[in-house]
Amino acid sequence: MMMNRYDLKQRLTWLVKLRWGGILGVLVVTHVVRELAVMSFSLIPVYAILGAASLCNFIYSWRLKSSNENLERLALVQIAIDQLILAFAVYFSGGCDSPFIYFFIFHVVISGIILPGQYAFAFAGSAVLLPAVVLWLKHIGVLPHYGIFKNEPMLFTNMEVIASYGIAFVSTVLLTAYFVTYLSKRLHERNEEVLRLYTLSERLRSSIRLNEVITIIEDELRGITGASSSFYMAINKERRVLSLTIDGQERHIPLIDKNSFTDALLRGVPAIIDRRPVSSDYELNVLDLLKTKRCMVLPVMAASIQPCYEYFHCSDNQCAAYKNNKEGRCWQLAETHCKGIILANYIDKLALCVSCELFTPIGLFILNLPQEYLPNMDASMRLLGAAGLAVSNALLYEKTMQLSKTDGLTGLKNHREFKESLRSEILRSKRFKRSGGLLLIDIDHFKNYNDANGHPQGDILLKKVAELIKDNFKDTDIVARYGGEEFAVLLLESVDKDQAVLVAERLKSMVDWYKFPREQTQPNGKITVSIGVSCFPDDGTTPEEILQAADEALYRAKKEGRNRVVAAAPPA
Ligand code: GH3
Ligand code: MG
Ligand code: MG
Repeated sequence: MMMNRYDLKQRLTWLVKLRWGGILGVLVVTHVVRELAVMSFSLIPVYAILGAASLCNFIYSWRLKSSNENLERLALVQIAIDQLILAFAVYFSGGCDSPFIYFFIFHVVISGIILPGQYAFAFAGSAVLLPAVVLWLKHIGVLPHYGIFKNEPMLFTNMEVIASYGIAFVSTVLLTAYFVTYLSKRLHERNEEVLRLYTLSERLRSSIRLNEVITIIEDELRGITGASSSFYMAINKERRVLSLTIDGQERHIPLIDKNSFTDALLRGVPAIIDRRPVSSDYELNVLDLLKTKRCMVLPVMAASIQPCYEYFHCSDNQCAAYKNNKEGRCWQLAETHCKGIILANYIDKLALCVSCELFTPIGLFILNLPQEYLPNMDASMRLLGAAGLAVSNALLYEKTMQLSKTDGLTGLKNHREFKESLRSEILRSKRFKRSGGLLLIDIDHFKNYNDANGHPQGDILLKKVAELIKDNFKDTDIVARYGGEEFAVLLLESVDKDQAVLVAERLKSMVDWYKFPREQTQPNGKITVSIGVSCFPDDGTTPEEILQAADEALYRAKKEGRNRVVAAAPPA
């Protein structure tokens, strides 16, 4: 298990502090035992060992302060030296009942909690092995006996005592190590999750664009769940569908369709879907497109309001009268807008739910899972809690950007966006030495139309004219509402002035020919437009010059009697 460096350093620093405590404890306990039990053992080996331990501890603490390098190696060195000291203590004390042993076992436990799991086992293993080897070597006479006690300790003469002490000692240490390792592992998992959430929030801060936000979240979800691939299904609120596009292929699931996808979404809880008998064709279509046998779906909610679908479940008899037995859900809901509304079939109910203000789902992540694999659902859901806000912010940003660029009445680009486009297109055409044309279109006597038919009717006419203009140009041309009843069109793809005039003439005739509502109120009995045409680079090389040229041409068209196209005269 890899640990982050800061974390390991903190843990090692704690270990150094605890070791100081241990050393002090052994010193005190040895003296107390010596006085109380009136034992006359030599204190020199005790001081020697504690001195060595203090020296090592001092070196560790100095190395920890001075450097962040090789921390893992330092941890292993500490384990090795602690165990050596323990072996010496056992050698000199001659038995297992020395305060050294208790303090060093305590040290093993603490180390296990503080250090990652594998260190705990290394500690425990060596804490058992080394003293055992020392005792055994002394027992068979390979190591000469040197004990702090004057007499040979009882342990060395009685094999039964050695065995029973040994078994108790080994099993205690190993059990402790196992428990400690388990705790440590859980702690690390949690720690990693927190770190992952932190990394996610850091990564999410780097972008507000929906595509990027989705990619970041999918990345993290695949990391947590081990999924081989992932997809995002977005909710289209207007069309009330969940949509999925893969490799240009599109699939939709109506939100009022009852299947595993919509169920997970409406409940706001993750679910695993496998290819058991599916509940609707829509579900099957999506599974086919995903080429999956088993997947996990994770709903994304905009805000953490209780999903209203939850309320559908009747928990007591109080709403029994409104309970639909087949669905097991209640529609007499105090906390929702559905209060008192009793609907017979579930499609009506779902339709009501989807259009409710409390309907917070915004999309669904789908993760392709290997067979039989159980992903960490809780961790994924906690991650989505944090991610939901980022997705809804990105959606909001996208919508705001869209609104700031379009004209509310006609849906065309607005004045500011048009000027932006004009500026960048002119720069581009300069770089690629291409030409382009600009049309300024103004409805003739529009004020008269407003006066005769009222403003609302004027708005309808504006929308109709906008539609006509939009339909008359290619998608690559840029069409905008330039002002009140003025429209602008930017013709790209190397258009010269003659071609631009031709296109303008065609539009003018089209408007002239089209039968608009109540157009008989106009002075000449129909709706007409006047168009000024300019070209770049012929009439100018900056947006201002080109707009000025088209405006002057439009002014001339008005002056010469309206319902006509006039091209800008090239600059003298
Ligand atoms: P001309 O042939 O010279 O262009 O005459 P005109 O009446 O079209 O020109 P004028 O500039 O005098 O009037 C434009 C009118 O467009 C005035 C204004 O009330 C109207 N208008 C501007 N924006 C809107 C809008 O959003 N909705 C409606 N209904 N009318 C608008
Ligand atoms: Mg005008
Ligand atoms: Mg006008």
